[in-house]
Amino acid sequence: MLPEQCDVVVVGAGNAAMCAALAAREHGAEVVVLERAPEDEAGGNTRFTAGAIRFAYDGLEDLRALMPDLSADEIARTDFGAYTEDQFFDDMARVTENRADPDLVELLVRRSKATLMWLRGKGFRFVPIYGRQAFKVNNRFKFWGGLTVEAWGGGPGLVEAHCKAAAANGIRIFYEARALSLLHDDDGVKGLTLRYQGKTQTIHCRAVVLAAGGFESNPEWRTRYLGPGWDLAKVRGTRFNTGDGIRMALDIGASPRGNWSGCHAVGWDRNAPEFGDLAVGDGFQKHSYPWGIMINANGERFVDEGADFRNYTYAKYGAVILRQPGQFAWQIFDKKVTHLLRDEYRIRQVTKVTANTLVELAGKLDDVNPKRALETIEQYNAAVRTDIPFDPNVKDGRRTEGLPVPKSNWANTIDQPPFEAYAVSCGITFTFGGLRITTEGQVVDTDGRPIPGLYAAGELVGGLFYFNYPGGTGLMSGAVFGRIAGNSAGRNAKPV
Ligand SMILES: Cc1cc2nc3c(=O)[nH]c(=O)nc-3n(C[C@H](O)[C@H](O)[C@H](O)COP(=O)(O)OP(=O)(O)OC[C@H]3O[C@@H](n4cnc5c(N)ncnc54)[C@H](O)[C@@H]3O)c2cc1C
Repeated sequence: MLPEQCDVVVVGAGNAAMCAALAAREHGAEVVVLERAPEDEAGGNTRFTAGAIRFAYDGLEDLRALMPDLSADEIARTDFGAYTEDQFFDDMARVTENRADPDLVELLVRRSKATLMWLRGKGFRFVPIYGRQAFKVNNRFKFWGGLTVEAWGGGPGLVEAHCKAAAANGIRIFYEARALSLLHDDDGVKGLTLRYQGKTQTIHCRAVVLAAGGFESNPEWRTRYLGPGWDLAKVRGTRFNTGDGIRMALDIGASPRGNWSGCHAVGWDRNAPEFGDLAVGDGFQKHSYPWGIMINANGERFVDEGADFRNYTYAKYGAVILRQPGQFAWQIFDKKVTHLLRDEYRIRQVTKVTANTLVELAGKLDDVNPKRALETIEQYNAAVRTDIPFDPNVKDGRRTEGLPVPKSNWANTIDQPPFEAYAVSCGITFTFGGLRITTEGQVVDTDGRPIPGLYAAGELVGGLFYFNYPGGTGLMSGAVFGRIAGNSAGRNAKPV
C-alpha cells in the first residue's frame, strides 16, 4: 500500500535516488521511493551502465581499502597508479572548458572517495576495470585514464546492490509510480501527486528529493533545447527519463541551470533500437575509434579520432556524428589494431563489414561515396608519422602531418588485411541542463532562494557538465549529490 504520508519521498530509483534514500534513512526518516518504470525495467540509466566510477585516489592503499578482496596476484601484475584530486579537478575544468561550477566540482572531487567508502560500508562491492581501462605492457596491466574501478556486476549489479541495501534499511520502493507534480505553498514543498496503478494519488511529506534523470528520452524537448536533428538521435538508456523531475520543479518556480543545449552523446550502433536494450546494455557503443579512423557519407574524415584518450572525447563525439550527412559514420580498423578493440565490438548485434582489400572495403560501406572513401584512406596512410612508436597507454604523439583533419595520437596506417568497419550513429546518454542546487542539495528558485523541502541529485542537476564529460563521472556525481541531498532532506524532515 502506498502511504498517504511519510517523511521523505524520493523520485526515481537510479543511483542518485537510491543514494539519497539511504542517506535520508540514516537520519531516521521514513523514506518512500517512487519509480516510474515497472520493476523489470527499473533502475534508470544506472542499470545500463558498465558501472565505471571515477574517483580520486592516492595509490594502492586507497584501492585496497575500497576493494579488500584485491588479490596479491592482481596487485603484482598491475600498475594502478594514482588519480589525485588535482587530476580530477583538472579533468573537470579541461573537458568542460572551465564552465563547471567550482562549488559543485569541489564537492564532487573531494567527496568522491569518502562516498564510495560509504557505499562499501553498506555492502556495495567494487572491482578494477581490467577489460576497458588498462592495457598490458611488458606483462603488466597499466591503468591509463583515471578510471580504475567499477561496481561489481556493472550497472545491473549496482542496481541490485541498491535494492538490497534499501530493503535492509527499511526503504520501500513503489514501481510504476510516476510522480506528476509537487504540492507546494509559500512555506515550500509539502508532497506530490503521482499516478500509481492507474490512479492519481497524493503523498504528503516533509521533503522531496528529485532524482528522475534528464530529458534525453523526450524527442520533443531534445529538439527544443539541444537543437534541430536531436530528434534523430538514438537513446542509449532508459525510455523513462523524459524530464519529469525538471518540469515539476520548474513549474513551481525552480531555477534552470547549466548547459541546456548540451548533452553526453556517443558513437552508437547505426541499427540500434530507439531506446536502450537491457539485454545489450552499453554494448551498442563503439569506443575504440582512437585506434582507427572515422569517415562519413561523403567518404571523408571529420574529427581528430586521437585528440585525447577515449575517456575525454567519447562523450562529445556523438554530437559530431549527428552533424554528419545522414547522421552516421563508419569506423575503420586494420589487422594491426583489431586485438585492441573493446568487447562491445564482438557482440552479436553489430553493424560490421570486413574486407581483404581497401577497394573491397570502400565498396561495402553502406551509403558512403566509395571513390572518395578510398582516397581518404590512402591520403591518411601517407600522412602517418610511422617513425613515432605506437603506444595505447600514453598519448603517444604518433600523428598525421598535413591533413585538413589531423589525427594527433595513435595514428596507425590502415594497410594490413583483414579490414573491419563498423557503422555508428549518435546515441544520447543524458542531458547536461537541469536544476540549480545549493551545496546542500536544495533546489533554488528563480529569485535565488532555496525552496524549502525540495532537493535534487543526479542527471537533473545543472552546472556540472558543459560540452563534454570525463567518463565515469555520472555515477560518481549521482552518488555524491544523492548522498548530500538525502542527508539534507533526512535531517530537515526528521520529526522532532
Ligand atoms: C549505456 C550507458 C552507459 C553508461 N555508462 C556509465 C558508466 O560506466 N559510468 C558512469 O559514471 N556513467 C555511465 N552512464 C551515465 C549514467 O548512467 C548516469 O549518469 C547515471 O546513472 C544517472 O543516474 P541518475 O540516478 O541521475 O538517473 P537514472 O539512473 O537514469 O535514474 C532516473 C530514474 O528516474 C525514474 N523516473 C523518471 N521520471 C520519473 C517520474 N516522473 N516518477 C518516478 N520516477 C521517474 C526513471 O525511471 C529512472 O529509474 C551511462 C549511461 C548509459 C545510458
